Amino acid sequence: MNNITSENYFSSENNLKYMGSSQFKAFQKCEAAALAEINEEYVRPMSDALLIGSFVDAYFEGTLDSFKENHPEVFTQKGTLKSQYQHAEYIIQRVERDPKFMLYMSGEKQKIFTGKISGVPFKIKVDSYHPECIVDLKCIKDFKSKWNDSKGIKENFAFYWGYHIQGAIYREIVRQNTGNTLNFLLAAVTKEKPEPDFDLINVDENILDEALDEVKSLAPRFQKIKNGEIIPQRCGKCPWCRRTKVLSKTVNLSDLCEVYEVE
Ligand SMILES: [Zn+2]
Repeated sequence: MNNITSENYFSSENNLKYMGSSQFKAFQKCEAAALAEINEEYVRPMSDALLIGSFVDAYFEGTLDSFKENHPEVFTQKGTLKSQYQHAEYIIQRVERDPKFMLYMSGEKQKIFTGKISGVPFKIKVDSYHPECIVDLKCIKDFKSKWNDSKGIKENFAFYWGYHIQGAIYREIVRQNTGNTLNFLLAAVTKEKPEPDFDLINVDENILDEALDEVKSLAPRFQKIKNGEIIPQRCGKCPWCRRTKVLSKTVNLSDLCEVYEVE
């Protein structure tokens, strides 16, 4: 059943066949944009911030050389690394000095599993898999709380980025394959200058339980959207919705003011 490899993990065929944690989170953000991405009508822009994270990921995967070949934009015209990627190298060196961080990062790399949640096929790729725990590497701006516009609250960064959702999916799919309910940890490092901060964050069991309930309840709807059985909702704010926006009426300034006052 499982013919997914690291080469075809993100292929359009497998993105159509399986839901992944990024795809699930994309649906939660904007169903229309998520579907457009699966249908290859929309490509999410690769920001510098994302690329720095991918640089660090590639190092720990052991694929930094091919990453550099595929991303010549990390180099200056003189062929040296651009300053932000020199800092990425510094981030790597910093966490390499910490034995515990490296111990957690020393599991089996990029281990792929598949399974089903609420009847929906899922695929996962674990950064560092240990028989006792699942570890996911995160390279983020900082550990500060983030403003969640749709909820109107300030959230811990892990909730803001949906890492608890990812953890719930990973823990459940690993459980289906091994019979073991493992701990899910974030090996998190910040991009702060001059010194990055870092931590090994164990995501509490009850947080993962709640997040799994959320996945179980929403996954069937997202699958139906993928199958073309339900029309996706538009968030109206994301780049995809702005690109495909068609005006049907005028809006009142006073109504817009109410929207802005919440922020
Ligand atoms: Zn949208």
